[in-house]
Amino acid sequence: MRNLYFRTLLVLCLSLGSGSLIAQDYFLNDKGPFDPSIPSPEEFLGYPIGEQHTRHDQIVAYFDRLAELSDRASITSYGKTHEHRKLVMLTVTSPNHLANLSALQQEHLKFVDTKQTVTNYNEVPVFIQLGYNVHGNEPSSSEAALLTAYTLVASQNTEVLNYLNNSVIFIDPTINPDGRDRHTQWVNQFQGSPLVSDGNDAEHNEAWPRGRTNHYWFDLNRDWLLAVHPESQGKLKWYHQWYPNVVTDFHEMGTNSTYFFEPMKPIGSFDPIMPKENYEDLNDTFAPYFSGALDEIGSFYFTKEAFDGTYPGYGSSYPDLQGGLALLFEQASSRGHLQDTEYGTISFPFTIRNQYVSSMATIKAAVENKAMLREYQQEFFQSAIKSNANDVVAYEFGDDYDMNRNKAFVDYLLAHQIDVYKDGGKYVVPTKQPQQRMVQTMFETYSKYRDSVFYDASAWSVANFYNMKSSPRKNVNLTNKVTNTENIVNVVPVVKSNYAYIMDWDDYYAPAALHHMQSKGLKVAAAFKPFSVGTNAGAKDFHYGSIMVPVSKQEKTSAEVFEIVQEAQTKFNVPLYAANTGFSLSGVDLGSRNLQYIEAPKAAMIIGEGVNSYEAGEVWHLLDTRVEMPITKIRSEMFDRVSLSDYNTLVMVSTWGSTIDSIQQKKIKDWVAQGNTLITIAGASKWAVES
Ligand SMILES: [Zn+2]
Repeated sequence: MRNLYFRTLLVLCLSLGSGSLIAQDYFLNDKGPFDPSIPSPEEFLGYPIGEQHTRHDQIVAYFDRLAELSDRASITSYGKTHEHRKLVMLTVTSPNHLANLSALQQEHLKFVDTKQTVTNYNEVPVFIQLGYNVHGNEPSSSEAALLTAYTLVASQNTEVLNYLNNSVIFIDPTINPDGRDRHTQWVNQFQGSPLVSDGNDAEHNEAWPRGRTNHYWFDLNRDWLLAVHPESQGKLKWYHQWYPNVVTDFHEMGTNSTYFFEPMKPIGSFDPIMPKENYEDLNDTFAPYFSGALDEIGSFYFTKEAFDGTYPGYGSSYPDLQGGLALLFEQASSRGHLQDTEYGTISFPFTIRNQYVSSMATIKAAVENKAMLREYQQEFFQSAIKSNANDVVAYEFGDDYDMNRNKAFVDYLLAHQIDVYKDGGKYVVPTKQPQQRMVQTMFETYSKYRDSVFYDASAWSVANFYNMKSSPRKNVNLTNKVTNTENIVNVVPVVKSNYAYIMDWDDYYAPAALHHMQSKGLKVAAAFKPFSVGTNAGAKDFHYGSIMVPVSKQEKTSAEVFEIVQEAQTKFNVPLYAANTGFSLSGVDLGSRNLQYIEAPKAAMIIGEGVNSYEAGEVWHLLDTRVEMPITKIRSEMFDRVSLSDYNTLVMVSTWGSTIDSIQQKKIKDWVAQGNTLITIAGASKWAVES
């Protein structure tokens, strides 16, 4: 009855331009009274939550303020995005717990430590990590994060005080700040007054590349496993210091949908890595909390029919592989401030309220089941060291030549807290270890699935991503643990030569070293046939693609050439050798026609509307971060005006519709006919074949 009264009042007030107290009550109606010395989000921001989209820096500023004013909250930063936005975590708990946070952390970690056998499950507060807005253009959840933080910091309600006494809550308000701000700027700049709910309005239709992804147009909700980006790298580091018992991941879906919470549909794999108890028991325990909270405010929802936690790199699956319970929420999107649906309009505040209510229900469920969650996490790690997932005792890997790739892969395994050992010349990873399930994730390949239809990725044996051959082992020597990767790459320092320098192309960073030398003005040749030659490190075999720098052919002194070559080696740690003769021990000589001059690439890529932003982003990211080579990104709508003769290399990724018309197609064909290089990826290769 009281609820109905509030809702009626609220609808009235919102439509009349709403008094602020009432607007706030829409979200917080039964969570008061509130400490008046703590500003609400509305007081701090100067507008009611939901009236416009809140920029990430405003969210951080509000959290800073809460931490400054309250003895219930503290704030830390776990990294910076590519665009230098701060990644933050607000810790909220009772003042007493907050003052003893490191002691509590140690108590908590005993349940994760397989060498400990503690049983005080009910005595340690449960650790909850509320994560919001991994997809930047699914913005309701970060606004809900503001309300959740305010409730926990300012409420004097006995129910909330009980939560604080029984939990430590870590709030990450924006997992993807770069994407969020891209979207926020878009919807705020097109917001009309009065609001335009017509789905055709610009407000509801973002321009390319849209706000879902991060700076390099990567989906951060796939990056928990691959950890390519600073957002995920920072989060992993944080994660393995805290191992929360419950983790949330808030999203949005189609405007005409309702709300989704777990359980998801049955996992796709017949042999899932995730324990069945997680998928069934834990989710079934939590579900009634969400249904109850949403029923109370009259919100519709669905469960069980959709979404899939098969891939281990989602925000709603990685924590499941760390003994936690990860929870996916999906809210029908207002995408903008108000949009037409089949049932009237959906407003931004409405979407925020569902996410807020689910956040509070998550805390309630975790607090009321804390002993079960703790025991579950302890058993999760204990079971990992008791038995092998199969007969495999360990996996062995290690490239005999490419030390930089070995280093990259070992660095990666260590970031996931996987134990790695050196056994003779190879690296070995035992399967019996606390991170057993992550070991499976890295090395096992799967072929049996329940259904041929997947929500998303079905294959992710990460060793294959690194082109790292691995093999199972039946026995293993675990005496030499690898704790860091500092000494994995040991190149022989190159010495000065007046004749030539040679670099093998097999190294992970060879393209970067080549680009460095070319960008400093060195002229180089590539080997089209293999050869062996005497070098400063003795006789060496060089394969196809090896790079040769002929010293006397440069317009630089031999000292200048040496300086550049040495720089390339120091910067990228690549095997690079000096040769004093062009006469080979076998194969072609250095003056052979099979060592051909190669031009420095002047590269461009078509991006923009109609172009697959994920593929384009991968190319951009690869060149920026692995090669340190610039590429000009030409927007598709500008392509007609660009003179292709300014470039000798063009990258094209998948496009759709008539992104490239027949005139543009001819322009590219003519340019290729002049001897320039067209690199096509995925759908663009099909396009090139058919053009
Ligand atoms: Zn999403």
